[in-house]
Amino acid sequence: MTYDVINPATEKVVRTVELASVEQADAAIARAAEAFTSWRGIAPADRGRLLRRFADAVDADLENLAALEVENAGHTIGNARWEAGNVRDVLHYYAAAPERLFGRQIPVAGGIDLTVAEPLGVVGVIVPWNFPMPIAGWGFAPALAAGNTVVLKPAELTPLTALRLGELALEAGIPPGVLEIVPGAGTVVGQRFVTHPAVRKVVFTGSTGVGKQVMAGCADQVKRVTLELGGKSANVVFADADLDKAAAQAPYGVFDNAGQDCCARSRILVERSVHDRFLELLEPAVKNLRVGDPADPATEMGPLISARQRERVAAYVDEGAVAFRGPAPDGPGFWFPPTVLTGLAADSPALTEEIFGPVVVVVPFEDEADAIRRANDTAYGLSGSIWTRDVGRALRVSRGLEAGNLSVNSHSSVRYSTPFGGFKQSGLGRELGPDALAAFTETKNIFISTED
Ligand code: NDP
Repeated sequence: MTYDVINPATEKVVRTVELASVEQADAAIARAAEAFTSWRGIAPADRGRLLRRFADAVDADLENLAALEVENAGHTIGNARWEAGNVRDVLHYYAAAPERLFGRQIPVAGGIDLTVAEPLGVVGVIVPWNFPMPIAGWGFAPALAAGNTVVLKPAELTPLTALRLGELALEAGIPPGVLEIVPGAGTVVGQRFVTHPAVRKVVFTGSTGVGKQVMAGCADQVKRVTLELGGKSANVVFADADLDKAAAQAPYGVFDNAGQDCCARSRILVERSVHDRFLELLEPAVKNLRVGDPADPATEMGPLISARQRERVAAYVDEGAVAFRGPAPDGPGFWFPPTVLTGLAADSPALTEEIFGPVVVVVPFEDEADAIRRANDTAYGLSGSIWTRDVGRALRVSRGLEAGNLSVNSHSSVRYSTPFGGFKQSGLGRELGPDALAAFTETKNIFISTED
């Protein structure tokens, strides 16, 4: 079976990709299982060296990878360059890990007790369409560094950069079978990763609904699982904040990647005394957003990924609640204007569900306790921002919010060296930083008797 990959800015076919069958997925898993026996045994320094060479190959191909993502996912060229650079940086970061996977020596009676960090085996990585490159890299870089081999399924909509990353790995000298890219349907290839006994862990990023199915499927074999799921994150703006800065940066916090971002701050909670002033400042920032050709370096927001996604997003927008909108081009392409909603009922789906598009709701709050209560009034808990000049308040509110990734006076969520992941239904486990390495190893305890 084949799949026509569409450019979301032009609606033209970019390339036709072969989709793997269950048998082809099984063959890729078998190659990865075979490669595991030698990959885990490579000297740690050599494994690190190969990952560094892979990082260098990504760096040399950065412009090509970025251009592919502009064409395939409609990402702005600026974002796409950052995303390719992020894969390079994540590989460099974890290239240092093989020589630093330290165990412990624990004092016990009658002998010496050691712990060692063992690789798991074959790891299945299931990637969504919203950030095809970084999410692939966050899965394979720590997994490979820890001595595992990887089978990776890109989303049907966005397979092109994953296929290229697989080629670059081979060109860099990563042995065949160590990183297998398996394009195919989630219900076929993704499901096979869940059910195949040789796949020892599944790393899934995507919707909370499918994440729950993956977790339930993994339970059958007590398979390890890391889940990065949806979000409905809050951007909490206090009256004492630098309001100009908070309003100027709010569009970036939610409309980046056309809002198709699990960390999107899609609920802006504003202290009532400055709510109207904040909206006055936000309006020009939204109306002046440059929405259009993603290949133009001046563009700030591109199209949605598909016609289906545009329909989903449109269904959340009640015209009566639209406070103002930004621009969107006419003509071909899955465009949707950045949209600001106000005055929604507490149970409105636009306020409670992940929209995954350029739509934000603005809601007033009364005081610190009310801000925390409203921000936490969701099944999700991925990220959030707090805007205040009061450092005590910043810390109190940070501690009060049920979310894995918080930023104060900023919307930055991702650094390759720090843990990333969600509370509640936003996920399970952490990616990136030192935490991810632990998630790709099993601790083995060995006791050596010193008795005569
Ligand atoms: P999905 O959760 O369906 O897709 C994510 C990945 O999972 C894709 O690679 C998909 O494959 C795969 N997949 C789908 N079904 C299964 C399955 N049964 N077993 C294993 N893998 C599977 O997201 P959608 O693409 O349908 O997007 C729907 C909504 O999900 C969005 O509107 C958004 O709200 C949310 N979403 C959230 C993301 C986040 O990071 N928070 C990321 C993506 C979506 P394939 O697409 O090839 O079928």
